[in-house]
Amino acid sequence: MMAVWTPGSYLIREYERHVENVAAAGTDGARLAVTKTAKNRWTISTGGAGTIAVTYRVYGREMSVRTNWIDSEFALLNGAPTFLTLADSHSRPHEISLTLPAGWTRSVTALPALGSAANGYRASTYDALVDSPILAGSPAVYAFEIDGTSYLLANEGEAGVFDGSRAARDAEAIARGHHRFWRTVPYDRYVCLNLITESGGGLEHADSAVLMTSRWATRTRKAYLGWLELVSHELFHAWNGKRLRPIELGPFDYEHEAYTRGLWVVEGITDYYGDVLLHRAGLSTRDEFLASLSDKIEAVQSTPGRAVQSLASASFDAWIKHYRPDENSANTSISYYLKGAVIAFLLDVRIRCASGGSRSLDDVMRAAYEQFAGTRGFTEKEFRALAEDVAACSLQSFWLRALDGTEELEYSEALELLGLRFKAGEVPPGKLPARATLGAMTKIDGGRLLVAQVRRGTPAHEAGLDADDEIVALDEFRVRPEQLEARMEQYVPGDRVSVLVSRRDRLLRLDVTLAAEPPKLWQLEVDPAATHAQQACLADWLGTLNWRFGPRDSGFGTRDSGSGIRDPESGIRNP
Ligand SMILES: [Zn+2]
Repeated sequence: MMAVWTPGSYLIREYERHVENVAAAGTDGARLAVTKTAKNRWTISTGGAGTIAVTYRVYGREMSVRTNWIDSEFALLNGAPTFLTLADSHSRPHEISLTLPAGWTRSVTALPALGSAANGYRASTYDALVDSPILAGSPAVYAFEIDGTSYLLANEGEAGVFDGSRAARDAEAIARGHHRFWRTVPYDRYVCLNLITESGGGLEHADSAVLMTSRWATRTRKAYLGWLELVSHELFHAWNGKRLRPIELGPFDYEHEAYTRGLWVVEGITDYYGDVLLHRAGLSTRDEFLASLSDKIEAVQSTPGRAVQSLASASFDAWIKHYRPDENSANTSISYYLKGAVIAFLLDVRIRCASGGSRSLDDVMRAAYEQFAGTRGFTEKEFRALAEDVAACSLQSFWLRALDGTEELEYSEALELLGLRFKAGEVPPGKLPARATLGAMTKIDGGRLLVAQVRRGTPAHEAGLDADDEIVALDEFRVRPEQLEARMEQYVPGDRVSVLVSRRDRLLRLDVTLAAEPPKLWQLEVDPAATHAQQACLADWLGTLNWRFGPRDSGFGTRDSGSGIRDPESGIRNP
């Protein structure tokens, strides 16, 4: 059989479509009959042979963290799309021997070496094989060690542009922060396969991760911060997601969907802590950290689907929704990454408030790891009960709002506790108080201006604009694709405009009443009037008071020792 999906990426991908020339032979070299019995299964008539050899070819040219890519410079081999295995015996060990093309220097994987042969590996089970992607090529490899645990960062494609030494130095700081957070390290060796391929994404594994990035990622602050967040996120998964996991996510049925309502824990909490721990490690400023959290809140609050799909069902339907987005997705679904991270933040705050600052989500995660990490996993009920234990109060109404329902989220408790506020909506300098907008997202395709997405509640939606409509003219004048923004500046909110569109080549006029372009409403900042106690809570949450990239903020350099705020082991020692 061949797996049809890769754990961590919840879509049936039909990897078997890239398999060709499946053949089998007995020990005497005689060909054995191979019959295909399902899209991803083959039956071999062994004629009683104790050992058989099966050969096949695999095509690999999809640049993503969960598929295969093979070209003249390197290969990324993921287990699920590469290896056939016995359908009924996933617990057998699997041995691999790679023959590299001339000129390639090495292969890198989390799998242990098979004897002393180069490029030979042994996976204790099929699960370990699938969970251990292999990079072969000529990567730059950086090694570091933290308290006896060794790390490898393998950068394929630095091209003299990507700053590998700096990336390795900062990855080490991230790993140190994760060690301090969890207080236990579940692996002896961790491998980060960083493919610098002008692509994106990351996928977690028990002892490794695959990242994809741009060779320019270390050149600008914004791009580099994104890369650091990805490293932190994927590393956090080695604990949360791979070892601490919902009961449904393992052992895996590689031929069918694994439905779970727990992806808000796996992805949401991981996304939250990816940023939190980056900040606590001193690698992002307070402003950068707050901006990243704010953007997640902003994204949730501006997605109409938040009123339609609960977080629990967003997780359950990942297979048909999150991994299969279309032009209507924003109207009917919500991301369990984004809302999950926001809920993690609000849950953290709820626990801090309920416990008078003595407990936090940090404690929940460590306790959950201690209780549930291992072969069984946790049920949703168990995770909720544990959080309530740590908070020492019922979180019934919190779950209802946050996980099970679609009510608007409430941020006042968080603002109040941490002395934060949402910035007033900013008007760009030199612009009218509010810019007029159709409210439709557009794209330029083949020189045509097309409607890409129409969100509910926008003027475009009210007027009946539809995805794939070609916008031809506003009022009586032609609008060329690149002119839309400039033309909208001729109007103010409330104006009625006649929009000429071509829908399946038929011209239609639609009257649209323009609205004001919504300002950013959900950007957090520290309230200048924050009390000393709020400042102390904020400092406790941020876990560190060092400002490596920015000036020290006056007024936030001290901890109020008399406020009852603990000095948690969770964070990093404050300098
Ligand atoms: Zn993730």
